[in-house]
Amino acid sequence: MGRIRVLSDNVANQIAAGEVVERPASVVKELLENSLDAGATSFRIDIENGGRRLIRIADNGCGMLRDDALLAFERHATSKLHDAKDLLCIATLGFRGEALPSIASVSRLVLESRSAEETTGNRIEIAGGKILNVGEIAAPPGTAIAVRDLFFNVPARKKFLRTEQTELAHIGSLVTHYSLAHPDKTFELLNGTAELLHVTPVPTLRERVFQVFGSDALDELIEVGGRERTLLLAEEEPRTFRVSGFVSRPQVQKNNRNSIFVFVNGRLIRDRLMLHALSSAYHNLMPPACYPFALLFLDCPSEEVDVNVHPSKTEVRFRHQSFVHDAVRDIIRELLMQSRPAPAFATSPMPQPAAGLPYSEFTQAIENEAIPTESEMPAGSAPVFALRPEPGPASRFEFEAVPESQPPSSPTPLRLKAPDTHGDFPLEVPYDSRPTTLTGLGDLRPLGQIHESFIIAAGREGLWIIDQHVAHERILFEKVLAQRASGRVEVQRLLMPLVLQLTPGQQIEYSRIADELQAQGFETEPFGHGTIAVKAAPAAIGPADLERAIFEILEVAENELRKVSLDDLRRGIAASLACRAAIKINTRLDQSKMEWLLRELSATDYPMACPHGRPIAMLYSTREILKAFHRI
Ligand code: ADP
Ligand code: MG
Repeated sequence: MGRIRVLSDNVANQIAAGEVVERPASVVKELLENSLDAGATSFRIDIENGGRRLIRIADNGCGMLRDDALLAFERHATSKLHDAKDLLCIATLGFRGEALPSIASVSRLVLESRSAEETTGNRIEIAGGKILNVGEIAAPPGTAIAVRDLFFNVPARKKFLRTEQTELAHIGSLVTHYSLAHPDKTFELLNGTAELLHVTPVPTLRERVFQVFGSDALDELIEVGGRERTLLLAEEEPRTFRVSGFVSRPQVQKNNRNSIFVFVNGRLIRDRLMLHALSSAYHNLMPPACYPFALLFLDCPSEEVDVNVHPSKTEVRFRHQSFVHDAVRDIIRELLMQSRPAPAFATSPMPQPAAGLPYSEFTQAIENEAIPTESEMPAGSAPVFALRPEPGPASRFEFEAVPESQPPSSPTPLRLKAPDTHGDFPLEVPYDSRPTTLTGLGDLRPLGQIHESFIIAAGREGLWIIDQHVAHERILFEKVLAQRASGRVEVQRLLMPLVLQLTPGQQIEYSRIADELQAQGFETEPFGHGTIAVKAAPAAIGPADLERAIFEILEVAENELRKVSLDDLRRGIAASLACRAAIKINTRLDQSKMEWLLRELSATDYPMACPHGRPIAMLYSTREILKAFHRI
């Protein structure tokens, strides 16, 4: 007798459950997606003990006919696909016909469902994949599925579940984000009797964000607002990709990617391409190990995206990957450029939910969990902007992100409290309570330097501190990029060629980027035995810095190797050149130099951060000053 046997359906379902049902939140995801596919507009989710004891989802969707209700628990039974051709353009969230049988094989499940077409509903009870009971019930139209004792028959799996708090956090985060994807629907999430989320229909995403996170968070976010890019293909219909949602201002910095939520055609996914596009948008605006908060919706024709990539349907494959990547990156980058917010010395955690909703608890619990990260996007935990007071330990300052606004036009005069014995008050201090942008940097009056490194300047918004090195770096960085783009790089010839010895790794990098080096103003050629001769270099680089600049560029090239984009490489090279050529710290600057620096900085596209993501200018606002002196 042969050794190969066909597995029973129940074993096959348990194997599928291994992929589909990782934890209680995966059950919630599958059931919620089914309810959405059923056209429901209202969802109530009850959880007990982090979803181990109970997960119950009740919807007001189309319900199931009696025969369908039984069929739904058969392996590969679905109402959403007919033949293989449908796989090419999937418009529903489900299509594999796997979720219900998988979940039913590892839990005690009760389904109650009634189609509006029938007068009575049906109840089906299953435990560990075995049907225990089928009967008729009186029920409102819609479906309710209760999943009890998850993994009761798979003890090995049960061991992997985390604490109640962590599992609940995953569920909370999932439901919250689905509620953000559907502002027009009602979502209720209850943990026992405690209501964690209850949102009713609103007309816009902005209003839903407000319901969920509150108004403070909205100030820290930029709305993407439906921006489109169209892909033109020979002999095919043009394809339009639409990006909407919210992204955080660059000052909001998270130390992992748990605050990034991406929906592609309404499906919540974890996709490397989209994550990379987002990181690239913030590249040079944020330190490398920091991540934004993002809620992004990408909508495109369904044939442009293959969702049949992974059993849990959390990954997708785009047909035109680099187009999608660059479109998303550019749309977000443009928005960030436009907002030009000024960092301020203040503390403001981000994003905080509306009162009563423990969103931060959700995210905190998830963040506490060790989540493996991809090598190109390490989730570092280094503090971002550490100012080190002398002497003493490093202290961390968080920056308040200030929403965009017009430059102050008609400042509101503020009447200070009188009588006051500490001066000639009352006086009128014209200060604008509206947020400040970096647009007015050029009008500041430099007062001097601290440690010959930071420029102190006064302006109507308050007191500014500007890091002279990174300010100059930003100016040069944009200049180098502009020269490179127009093909007009200023070059200086060297009196004597500079001969550099390269390691084998550096030689490989060198031959890969030789053309780009040439375009950036380096005239180089191989000189035999692993050496290169540099005959000319960009004018901005002093001879003393040249050798280091070239080695740094080769290093950048090696790091960028993993990235597909030539654009990233160019930016990397420009950042190295700018850093080498910029005014150093501990350098005395006279008045005219400081004024020049501020003027040039204000004319840059992005005066908020240096090419490596460090902040450039910080504002101690008049309001803060008044508050500190108890004047308001
Ligand atoms: P899939 O979603 O991939 O089709 P599932 O196993 O998740 O597979 O569900 C099987 C079928 O059960 C679905 O195709 C759908 O017809 C039906 N179904 C599941 N949940 C619901 C629901 N909440 N309301 C109506 N029908 C449902
Ligand atoms: Mg499904």
